[in-house]
Amino acid sequence: MSSVILLRTKSQHTIKVNVSVLAVHEERTDSGKFIVAIDEGQMNSFTERADFPENLYQRMVGEIQDFAIVFLNETGDIQTWNAGAQAIKGYNADEVIGRNFSIFYTEEERAAGLPFELLQKAKINGFVKHEGWRVRKSGERFWGNVVISAIHNSDGKLIGFAKVTSDATVRKSAETDRLRYIESLESRALEMRQLAYIASHDLQEPLRTMKNFITRLQPKDSIIQDEDSLTYLNIISLSVDRMQQLVNAILEYAVLGFGRVLTKIDCNLLLDEVKQDLSDLICNAGADLNIGPLPVLKGYVVELRQLFQNLIENALKFRRADIACKISVGAYRDKDSWVFYIKDNGLGIDSIYREKIFYLFQRVPNRGKYSGTGIGLAYCKKIIELHGGRIWVESEVGEGSVFYVLVPDL
Ligand code: ADP
Repeated sequence: MSSVILLRTKSQHTIKVNVSVLAVHEERTDSGKFIVAIDEGQMNSFTERADFPENLYQRMVGEIQDFAIVFLNETGDIQTWNAGAQAIKGYNADEVIGRNFSIFYTEEERAAGLPFELLQKAKINGFVKHEGWRVRKSGERFWGNVVISAIHNSDGKLIGFAKVTSDATVRKSAETDRLRYIESLESRALEMRQLAYIASHDLQEPLRTMKNFITRLQPKDSIIQDEDSLTYLNIISLSVDRMQQLVNAILEYAVLGFGRVLTKIDCNLLLDEVKQDLSDLICNAGADLNIGPLPVLKGYVVELRQLFQNLIENALKFRRADIACKISVGAYRDKDSWVFYIKDNGLGIDSIYREKIFYLFQRVPNRGKYSGTGIGLAYCKKIIELHGGRIWVESEVGEGSVFYVLVPDL
């Protein structure tokens, strides 16, 4: 076989040779020899090419455009200046060679002794990294990402510093924009929460007043005695009750997750508590609630308890009349997350509603006999999104539903 390899000569030149290796076996014995043939005709010394520059490194550094590479002496005076330095900082070599590199720092940074401090750190640790706003010759600012490395001679004595600067303005601006965007989202979310809180809080008052006067009109000795009027009054009263329920629900939704605390949760214990809290409902529904082994994970305990409670309550509420209610809860691992499932054999949900039901006040129509506000699943969605996870449902009408809750590792 033959292949091309690179060899380093005694004179430190790199040469390319074509090597062939041939195995030759002795007759009647197992021993053998290798013949190595170097094809001298293919020899090609890179460094001996006519156009090969002698000062390769100097040229490489000099012509690099994307990085300002500058050599400083022990006190930080500029000794060399490459094309990248000219492109990034706007000065040409004549304007800066011999001057101290501190000219690139702001007045405040110079007054605080930053340039000197950076050289000291590079001297002690071998190198130092720093980022900050710098000023080009034109006065325009750019975000400089700087590494200063101490350079030593063969005796280990410090002879200066290599300072490499890149222009990271684009990255910095993107980062700043992202932070501003997050801040604006957070403040809008806070505003919305306050608005919802105030609106729902203030709405309670007129509702209470209405309720109060309706009850005054209802007693037997009140001026309203006829059957129809009493029926209307009753309807108004029920509507006010419902309105109060909805307003309370909005209020709770608005403050959901406020002051939440991330803790380690044993979901087995958490679901035991939920089962305990729902024991009356479970008993009335004659339901069989089976809870499999569950993980210990990090999450917001108050909110997760509410999530499981809502899902199990729904499984109990939307059960079928013709079959014994069976609910099972379990969990499995999926990459960096736990996926919980809450499976029932209830009414099921038509595919057109399977996404809608997770939004505020959305319910499956024509299920008049089931009470509710259409807010429970919206809570669940908000809770799981606080965890960075998601919730979805798979279902077959008349067969049952499986709600999945993905909780990523936090
Ligand atoms: P609510 O229970 O107050 O109506 P939810 O937001 O909890 O509000 O649920 C929205 C709708 O989704 C319900 O009205 C119901 O029609 C449907 N739903 C939720 N859970 C189930 C379930 N386990 N089985 C069948 N339908 C369900």
